[in-house]
Amino acid sequence: MKVNSTFKLEKINHRYFAFDGGTGNIFEISEILYEILLNRNEKLTEKFTVEEIENAEKGLLVAMNNGILSEQNLLLRTYQKIGGKNVHSLNTLFLNVAQKCNLKCSYCFGKGGSYGLQQEMMSIDTARRCVDYWLKNIEEKKQNIVVSFFGGEPLLNLEVIEFVVQYINSKKQSINGNVKYMITTNGTILNNSIIEMFIKNDFLVSVSLDGISKIHNKNRAFASGKGSMDLVAKNTKKLLAHISNLNCQITLRREDIPFLEEAVTALWEMGVDKVYSNIVFDKNEIYQEKDYKELKFQTEILSDLMYQHLISGSKNIYGNIFDYMQNLHTRNYAINCFVWKEKIAAFASNGDAYSCYRLVGENDFLLGNVRQHDFTVFSKPFEKQKVAQCQNCYCQLYCGEGCPCENLVYNSDINIPAEEWCEKNKILFDISLRLYLKIKVNEPDLFRKLCKYWEENR
Ligand code: SF4
Ligand code: SF4
Ligand code: SF4
Repeated sequence: MKVNSTFKLEKINHRYFAFDGGTGNIFEISEILYEILLNRNEKLTEKFTVEEIENAEKGLLVAMNNGILSEQNLLLRTYQKIGGKNVHSLNTLFLNVAQKCNLKCSYCFGKGGSYGLQQEMMSIDTARRCVDYWLKNIEEKKQNIVVSFFGGEPLLNLEVIEFVVQYINSKKQSINGNVKYMITTNGTILNNSIIEMFIKNDFLVSVSLDGISKIHNKNRAFASGKGSMDLVAKNTKKLLAHISNLNCQITLRREDIPFLEEAVTALWEMGVDKVYSNIVFDKNEIYQEKDYKELKFQTEILSDLMYQHLISGSKNIYGNIFDYMQNLHTRNYAINCFVWKEKIAAFASNGDAYSCYRLVGENDFLLGNVRQHDFTVFSKPFEKQKVAQCQNCYCQLYCGEGCPCENLVYNSDINIPAEEWCEKNKILFDISLRLYLKIKVNEPDLFRKLCKYWEENR
């Protein structure tokens, strides 16, 4: 018997599991089913009788007739059901308050902060209009809404950030839900009023810090050429003394992948509990088989380290894997790409709105300007399409069938998944699924605790 379906198998300590990529279910299965699904016929006949094999195959057929290991294309249906055109739930406001930057990072996707547009600061008037539009359109029953400041370097425009926070706070009573403030900063600008604003408003602060000088200073330098590591590390430590809601984001070029584990560990040692990383995507960044092997190797080391940390009660977390495990547990499918959903407004400094903050400056993704009398972000020109190459991929539900932005960079088409994206995603998915199951099998008490945490913090 041959099963052509979208599943992923795992064996942990003589227990067998199948992740059903069509439905997102994780089943514990028998050894015989595991061998059947692996299509290892020689093993089957070595270990089991003909009768046992026939019974197991019959059972599998019944399951498949009931939609188990036979569902396909659920992602698109999920989008259509809860992420479709008519859902107006503008729950995230992205404000590019400073379309300029004091660093000249080698891998900047925002072209030095300007996104190829004019280098400018958002004015108070534009910020007020953006907030007013957003407040008017938040879905009433929405519980958690997010305001995210980005740039360039957003803290170059502290005045407008402070205005927005104070303005939204003054209207909090008319908002039916919690407002969460977020900022992504390069960590070079810090003073007491910034710290006070972060503390008072419980900001989630994400500092771009590449962990170790040899990669950070090479990639994240000031215009003078001087690396920014010492300053950013000093500011990050200062922030950590005041706020706990802080994570660091490491960005790696192709040649830096072998330093991933070293960089994450250095940040843990600095006192940062949650560390994320991402790999640069750019037309000039061409990845090869050996780069993916190295990425897998590094991510596996981080998975092993995190397993030990979780067992020992340490808070040092590699966010990429931890969040993926949470998504697996809470079935948080990747249906939040802003390009397909009408739940975001990403405003450039002049009030132009784009489908995604990474697409600022891309004319094809310009939705209009907040000053237009007929302005709306609810008539997006893009609709999620069926992506042929994803239909038999087991990680479709958690990958989202690619990032339109990365697709555009590598394939010049938002609908054609970039191979680079697939490779990275499958590495992360496989390692996260394995760690999730490893904890479930080997550490049931810890697993229960984590599940509780994931459910409470979804
Ligand atoms: S800090 Fe951010 S916006 Fe500024 S140059 Fe670096 S990557 Fe670009
Ligand atoms: S998946 Fe890509 S295009 Fe979609 S919101 Fe994220 S970065 Fe933007
Ligand atoms: S984009 Fe790639 S990894 Fe994602 S579902 Fe499609 S084929 Fe799979």
